[in-house]
Amino acid sequence: EEWQDRGAASGVQREYDSNGQPVLKPIKKGVKDFDFGKTLGEGSYSTVLAALDRSTQKQYAIKVLDKRHIIKEKKVKYVNIEKETLNRLTDHPGVVRLYYTFQDERSLYFVLDLCAGGELLSVLKRMTTFDEECTRFYAAQILDTISYMHSKGVIHRDLKPENVLMDDQQHIKITDFGTAKMLEAHQDPSGRTYFDSDAGHLRDRATSFVGTAEYVSPELLTDKNACKASDLWAFGCIVYQLLAGRPPFKAANEYLTFQKIVALEYEFPLGFPETARDLVERLLVLDPQQRLSLENIKAHEFFQGINWGRGLWKERAPRLK
Ligand code: ATP
Repeated sequence: EEWQDRGAASGVQREYDSNGQPVLKPIKKGVKDFDFGKTLGEGSYSTVLAALDRSTQKQYAIKVLDKRHIIKEKKVKYVNIEKETLNRLTDHPGVVRLYYTFQDERSLYFVLDLCAGGELLSVLKRMTTFDEECTRFYAAQILDTISYMHSKGVIHRDLKPENVLMDDQQHIKITDFGTAKMLEAHQDPSGRTYFDSDAGHLRDRATSFVGTAEYVSPELLTDKNACKASDLWAFGCIVYQLLAGRPPFKAANEYLTFQKIVALEYEFPLGFPETARDLVERLLVLDPQQRLSLENIKAHEFFQGINWGRGLWKERAPRLK
């Protein structure tokens, strides 16, 4: 049985003490503890349903994965990566939180934050484009979340507007960590945890993973490797897309899209705001080492006035325009 869940899954419930530290409680949640509601969406290997915890009346989204299908399609590894990364990222409002996992004979269940607002991509499509203020707000929430993920040693590797969900306050939550990369955790002599720097990111070159064509970084195409800066390339593509209504690199097929990416072949539409253009131009840089760093992005003129950190998550979302 490859399916033995570990940790929070095997009859142990992850809860948080008053300091926000995870503690494991031996309480077992299962299918019978939830009332299942409507289908929120379907993935290739999963169905996501709205669900209500019968004892607390709290609403969740439960992702149900069919074991046989996952084994047949050799996706066991991705399911485990998703669970392990989510278990590492439980302390930030911009990541979909995993509360419980359990299983029955047929399925695996991930109990997640409900994101009632759907995908950022759908919201953007309804609006066609976002104005500068909305772009600044959503880009800032996405960047703050990337900053948190990287501080926990997680590279997402497939950031795109479909993987950015919206909650009922119109704040973002990043999802889909099945193709994330976890940098190894170490402890320094004082017991503090730190993660491998990915500066010399040529260590595991052999990764065959390619994310979504339009957001793939040039280093993944040329060196077959992603690093933290690859998420910042995708971030640059998203900022462009929010303002332009389409991703910067798009062609009739994946091969042609890849050709445009490695040639840095893209154009700004007329009227694209100047400071946003400057930011995007400093992110869509072929050499990952030359790309703007997280700290420099936060300090960029485009983000002037943004209240970085938890304050950003207390703000009311701007009205979509
Ligand atoms: P694929 O596996 O094919 O890449 P996917 O990653 O979108 O697809 P899921 O993660 O199972 O697959 O999500 C299926 C759909 O359910 C998504 O399109 C998304 O809109 C919706 N969804 C996923 N998670 C949540 C959530 N926490 N709250 C609300 N809706 C969600």
